Amino acid sequence: MEPTIVSGKEVSNKIKEEIAIEVEKLKEKGIKTPHLAAVLVGEDGASKTYVNAKVKACEKVGFDSSLVKLEIDISEADLLAEIEKLNNNADIDGFIVQLPLPNHIDEQKVTEAIAPEKDIDGFHPVSLGKMLLDISSFLPATPYGITEILKHYNIPTEGKNCVVIGRSHIVGSPMSVLMARNSYPGNCTVTLTHSRTQNLSAITNQADILIVAIGKPEFVTADMVKKGATVIDVGIHRVEDSSKKSGYKLLGDVKFDEVAPKCAFISPVPGGVGPMTIASLLKNTLLAVKLKS
Ligand code: NAD
Repeated sequence: MEPTIVSGKEVSNKIKEEIAIEVEKLKEKGIKTPHLAAVLVGEDGASKTYVNAKVKACEKVGFDSSLVKLEIDISEADLLAEIEKLNNNADIDGFIVQLPLPNHIDEQKVTEAIAPEKDIDGFHPVSLGKMLLDISSFLPATPYGITEILKHYNIPTEGKNCVVIGRSHIVGSPMSVLMARNSYPGNCTVTLTHSRTQNLSAITNQADILIVAIGKPEFVTADMVKKGATVIDVGIHRVEDSSKKSGYKLLGDVKFDEVAPKCAFISPVPGGVGPMTIASLLKNTLLAVKLKS
């Protein structure tokens, strides 16, 4: 049977349409327009692309947005001061600091400086703690987006074996928590694998749902995947390609062409998880407004 190639683009567009309707309703009720701010440190090409896409998405749904551009050599203290300004700006409902940050800045310190009620990336310890306790809060944007894909395609999760590759704080670890929760999507038996895992292929071959966030281009090959599995590819890699106008092509963590024929569902790169991350940010911003009003 042909695999279903899940379209994060389509799901995220549907979510954006729903958000645009909600924004109109808020306006009718006299509640303020949601306002998302993004902080960009330096000129890294990929980070700039991601931030611009986030700001553009705000326009599409009727949010206000601000882009705070800072020099690459900004000191940690000055960046923390900028964050404090955003924390205290009543017009801004939520904001993100685009990662990665330059080496001289402690990312954890920056993450913890964001006011939890404005933490729309869902990386603050308070947000992560609430997620563990099933308290409504901001879910980390990428794992949240993946749960929305599973929901949209009605992919069964209860009682299934879910294997997550990668234990980062922003993708793999929270993903494993969400897939084990007592709700849909969730109720999976979850295995979280990482760089010290032995016999990875034997484990991934047991997966009904395989979520890959290892950060290595085309790492997952067909022999690692069970027939009929759902494979969600989180990886994004820019690889030089002179045949492309941009000079590069995008690859995921999964060798799509050989893995897809074995799958029931598979997410492509690009057009899979990427657009969902932005849709989740917008959802979290709307939640920030709702939690306030
Ligand atoms: P990371 O580099 O922080 O983490 C990689 C993880 O892979 C680590 O936990 C490590 O233990 C694990 N790992 C390394 N080698 C392994 C091995 N041989 N076997 C099993 N596990 C192994 O990565 P991240 O921040 O989670 O990102 C992963 C990928 O997802 C990257 O390509 C990143 O660009 C992409 N990403 C995409 C989005 C999106 O919106 N689509 C968002 C975040 C990250």
